[in-house]
Amino acid sequence: MKTYKIAAIPGDGIGGEVVSAGVEVLAAIAKRDGKFAFAVDHFDWGGEYYKRNGRMMPENGRDLIRKHDAILFGSAGHPDIPDHITLWGLRLAICQPFDQYANVRPTRILPGIKSPLRDVGPDRLDWVIVRENSEGEYAGVGGRAHQGSPLEVATDVAMFTRAGVARIMRYAFKLARSRPRKKLTVVTKSNAQRHAMVMWDEIAAEIAKEFPDVAWDKMLVDAMTMRMVIKPETVDTVVATNLHADILSDLAAALAGSLGIAPTANLNPEREFPSMFEPIHGSAFDIMGKGIANPIGTFWSNVMLLEHIGEGAAAARLMKAIECVTANPRFHTPDLGGKARTVEVTAAVIDAIGAENA
Ligand code: NAD
Ligand code: MN
Repeated sequence: MKTYKIAAIPGDGIGGEVVSAGVEVLAAIAKRDGKFAFAVDHFDWGGEYYKRNGRMMPENGRDLIRKHDAILFGSAGHPDIPDHITLWGLRLAICQPFDQYANVRPTRILPGIKSPLRDVGPDRLDWVIVRENSEGEYAGVGGRAHQGSPLEVATDVAMFTRAGVARIMRYAFKLARSRPRKKLTVVTKSNAQRHAMVMWDEIAAEIAKEFPDVAWDKMLVDAMTMRMVIKPETVDTVVATNLHADILSDLAAALAGSLGIAPTANLNPEREFPSMFEPIHGSAFDIMGKGIANPIGTFWSNVMLLEHIGEGAAAARLMKAIECVTANPRFHTPDLGGKARTVEVTAAVIDAIGAENA
């Protein structure tokens, strides 16, 4: 029997609540399948670790997880610690050195879930947003000088490399080609940002020639927000920069019913390093410790994890179990307007996995 090694990093806030639910569900899906198992190692990195050790993860942290088959991540963000320290000290400290350059974010309206959009059904909203995850606006390049004086200056420089843009475009075109509609929208801002975004557009047009069977268009990011709301059915696969896609994917999650549902994969497509799977939401300070965090975003991230490690049948089974549970309003957490608790949703998904005959 094949055993996959998973590194579980719950982080802070509701991260712990949803990751422990996610680990239970992984065990259930492996048991139901019978042909593979998971060995899960837990890492207590994050804000509490920072308070004890002055850093978010140990210096050799990445070496401890480098050989794992996948990482299941919760959230980086602690009420007592500035966000740029928690984010750069943990999440980005894994994503960037492990070269997880493709951040993939599917969005659908699951059965039983209400979208804030009027008259939009599951058939009209089925998107995947591909976020460039290694450079761009989050390259970390910049600095501050003359702090506190009237002369103070600060810069954040967006860095775009030809290699970085080409590989994310190629990834997005390939993904678009694998989907039924074979459609890609390249999001840009080349009217105002006249250097890097113009190169971004040029590289998109070059890579597009390798994919004559993919229909593609180009859209300014501001106009894209409107299109996602007004004409959701015209969107399928989307590729955008680190910052643009960060914003568009929160919008996408809200349009699909709740931030608590949306999943992410941080992929190293060449598989030189482990890839990392996480719900897109953060630590949710307002609900942490209350037992009402929606675990569906983590479960859907598990579906992406299963697909990545090559367990496609188990991935499909888990997705069906999730949809069977969201279809029943009794299992909706408060973010979806219901009263269910995290443990009830988790138990329902585990039951549905057992009942699933496929
Ligand atoms: P957030 O995602 O934590 O919360 C936004 C809102 O959505 C809150 O009202 C919250 O209660 C709700 N929500 C989020 N997830 C939910 C779930 N699973 N079930 C029910 N409701 C849910 O975003 P924020 O408030 O901007 O950030 C809080 C902290 O999390 C900050 O420190 C931020 O830096 C961090 N953060 C981390 C990540 C990450 O690690 N990937 C992502 C986003 C935010
Ligand atoms: Mn975000």
